Amino acid sequence: MVGIMSNRRSLRFAKTTCPVCGSREVARDDHKGDLLCTNCGHIIVRTETRAVGKFDIAQHLKRNGRMDFESLRHATGASEDKLFGVVRSMEEMGLLSEMQGQYSLTKKGQRWYRQRLGQEWGY
Ligand SMILES: [Zn+2]
Repeated sequence: MVGIMSNRRSLRFAKTTCPVCGSREVARDDHKGDLLCTNCGHIIVRTETRAVGKFDIAQHLKRNGRMDFESLRHATGASEDKLFGVVRSMEEMGLLSEMQGQYSLTKKGQRWYRQRLGQEWGY
């Protein structure tokens, strides 16, 4: 198979204004995922897709008991799409249960959390 390795960056213009020079010619660098101002060269690191881990979510639920999606989002600082994905996979693993929009840890989820906590502390 012949692979063509290309270092050519594909730039697409984004709907963002550069915070440094105010230029509207801000492009998305598909190679790295950051936004680049083509006027002054300032790199705007993407923040809108913040990831979150299962452990973080479990920790907040353990602390607060029940939480709805919005409070989980505020507590973890995750973006909606990322949080939604992790919450769904935790539901599929049986770690989370949802009732009337409120998420809580299942028995299995609490066990999982304790095990992970043990690993964090090196037991
Ligand atoms: Zn700029």
